[in-house]
Amino acid sequence: MQLIDSHCHIHSPEYQFDIEQVYQSAYQSGVNKFICIGTDLVDSLQAVNFAISHDNTWSSVGIHPHEADKFNNLHKLTELEKLAAMNKVVAIGECGLDYHYSHSSKKSQREILEFQIDLAIKQQLPMSFHVREAFEDFWPIFDNFRGVRGVLHSFTDSQANLAMAVDRGLFIGVNGIATFTKDHGQLDMYKQIPLTNLILETDAPYLTPVPFRGMMCEPKHIKVVADFLVDLRGEALEDIADRTTKNVNSLFKI
Ligand SMILES: [Zn+2]
Repeated sequence: MQLIDSHCHIHSPEYQFDIEQVYQSAYQSGVNKFICIGTDLVDSLQAVNFAISHDNTWSSVGIHPHEADKFNNLHKLTELEKLAAMNKVVAIGECGLDYHYSHSSKKSQREILEFQIDLAIKQQLPMSFHVREAFEDFWPIFDNFRGVRGVLHSFTDSQANLAMAVDRGLFIGVNGIATFTKDHGQLDMYKQIPLTNLILETDAPYLTPVPFRGMMCEPKHIKVVADFLVDLRGEALEDIADRTTKNVNSLFKI
């Protein structure tokens, strides 16, 4: 059985992971590929360098919507284009719109998102989208472009937005939130995600699944998320592992 962590932040020195131990326990849990996700220019370069120096590890480069205001001068983003061309970069993101926290203005969030969609199309790379309480603005932007592939990372939204995503061929990233949400509508939504569109992620070090709340989240916890979905959806672990692995491999070409 093989599992993949399609979205983690283990590259960031900020979190002080014991990297040897992180890889060892991930491998013991059947998790054997890792995608490190960049959130700004400095962090994206760290993700790329980390991926280059670790086996079975790839990276994305992108500007998180929280950081959008810092990049309102689009000239700064030529640096992102250079990063996107580097070795082992398999995606653009995480990028998108976050109207829950609104750490950056809506205007700059939209501009930075559009820039990154353009870049992904140019580089023929898939995207890791972060969209929170902002689908009303996200879909018109997304639909303005042709040929965008990607994943809605950490998807917790409605069945209506799930249907919109599936119609557009997007993958749906599910993480530890599923194990601790008390929202029955959300749990029903997780049941409706077609296996053909499902991928697993941790968002480590965040969103540690039950029963490990309070500990730092690591890629090994993908197995906990998979086990939870087995119970919730009534599918075999082998089927969830095989299909989500195929989905990640085909989306990111790893
Ligand atoms: Zn993330």
